[in-house]
Amino acid sequence: MTKKILVIGAGLSGTLLAIRMAQRGFDVELIEKRPDMRTTEVVEGRSINLALSDRGIKALRMIGMDEELQKDCIPMRGRLIHPLGADTFLSPYSGRKDKFINSISRGGLNIALLNKAETYPNLKVIFNAPCLNVNFDHNTAVFQKDSGEFEVHADFIFGADGANSAVRKSMFEQSHKLHFNFSQEYLSHAYKELVIPPAENGGFRIEKNALHIWPRGGYMMIALPNLDGSFTVTLFLGHKGENSFEKLKTEKDVVDFFQVNFPDAVSHMPTLVDDFFGNPTGLLATIKCFPWSVENRSLILGDAAHAIVPFYGQGMNASFEDVVVFDELFEKYDGDWDLTIERYNATRKNDTDAIADLAIDNFYEMRDKVANPAFQHKRQLEMKLENAFEEYQSKYSMVTFNDEIPYSEAMNKGRRQDDLLLKYCENIEDVTKLDLDEALNYVKNNL
Ligand code: FAD
Repeated sequence: MTKKILVIGAGLSGTLLAIRMAQRGFDVELIEKRPDMRTTEVVEGRSINLALSDRGIKALRMIGMDEELQKDCIPMRGRLIHPLGADTFLSPYSGRKDKFINSISRGGLNIALLNKAETYPNLKVIFNAPCLNVNFDHNTAVFQKDSGEFEVHADFIFGADGANSAVRKSMFEQSHKLHFNFSQEYLSHAYKELVIPPAENGGFRIEKNALHIWPRGGYMMIALPNLDGSFTVTLFLGHKGENSFEKLKTEKDVVDFFQVNFPDAVSHMPTLVDDFFGNPTGLLATIKCFPWSVENRSLILGDAAHAIVPFYGQGMNASFEDVVVFDELFEKYDGDWDLTIERYNATRKNDTDAIADLAIDNFYEMRDKVANPAFQHKRQLEMKLENAFEEYQSKYSMVTFNDEIPYSEAMNKGRRQDDLLLKYCENIEDVTKLDLDEALNYVKNNL
């Protein structure tokens, strides 16, 4: 039986995985590039809060942390759309009242996981030690510390070191030998994080229980609530062209752009200019690669294996689900590493490819379609079907609120449903007049 496990990267999926492996009784070493975020303020490169949904919650349940962490969440029941020059409206995430996604602090979640990790005597965490490379022939990894380099040997090495994974780079360097395939596709758009601070009385300046979207066709802005009353706002703009980052060079450019395009938000953003010029512009890319394992002695997972664009709010959820899928296979095959890895590779890739593709689809949906009447009719009908029939689930619900359906199945079935409902709503003026039994039968008979 494998004894010593090395997990590289104490981010979200690495720390979760390390905890699970420690719970299974392995001797685990978790090594992280950055300083300990509990004692050093880490400058966040990206999203201060994240949307946590059912797949992620299932993973937290696996390690016994779902209840305590859900207390730190703000429920978001739908997209609150801010059209330009018209009233805001809520587009619920589900036709069922008890379904919502959760805004959670990235740092808070990571810290809670690290605190839990340190309760296991068989789990050792080392910070400030970037992995430089992995030698898969000897199952060793080299790390950098102030004092110099050091090498760690393990029976099994997991790479959970995020989108710029050093473990994946080591695989890439041996592409020929490992038959390692890799692709990275940048999105035409980048992102910038901004802030809506709490109101003077400490409350929320805009609706608390929603994910706000300002869709502008070609670009957009979103905002997620934080427990302190603030919102983390993310602006998604093209790199170049009209309404792009390249056009926003001066304070006046930024203020004018916001006043014209996001007038109802700008009045709540007193630090807009400082935030805009002080915060980095983040790139967005989809990374796909395969195989994820070497010799059944090492495996990459999470963003290291499949970084996706953030528009379905599923990157972390999918990374957490990797750990659940791995763990369930490990259980099923009675701790047989070879079988577990083989089945993991064979089944998981389809699903992470599916969520990567769905995330790109959702970029266009959020940016271009959410304010479009045909799309809204389809969405309204979907909500009514979900409300009326237990058996009906929209694509969004299958991805977000169902931790049993694999992403690939949710994508395939969901896309067919979407096409059918759009067709069904083509010449409809009033969705409330539709016969729901007939609509459901139409979908079922044509799927
Ligand atoms: P990470 O969280 O990136 O963790 C990797 C860890 O490895 C880090 O701690 C890093 O410091 C460490 N590391 C890196 N290199 C090394 C090295 N060489 N040696 C040692 N350690 C190393 N997902 C959602 O589910 N919901 C959302 O709402 C959502 N919103 C997002 C918004 C934005 C703008 C972005 C960019 C992403 C968003 N995501 C969201 C995706 C989510 O952030 C990632 O999918 C998730 O963080 C992946 O977790 P991970 O543990 O695999 O990687």
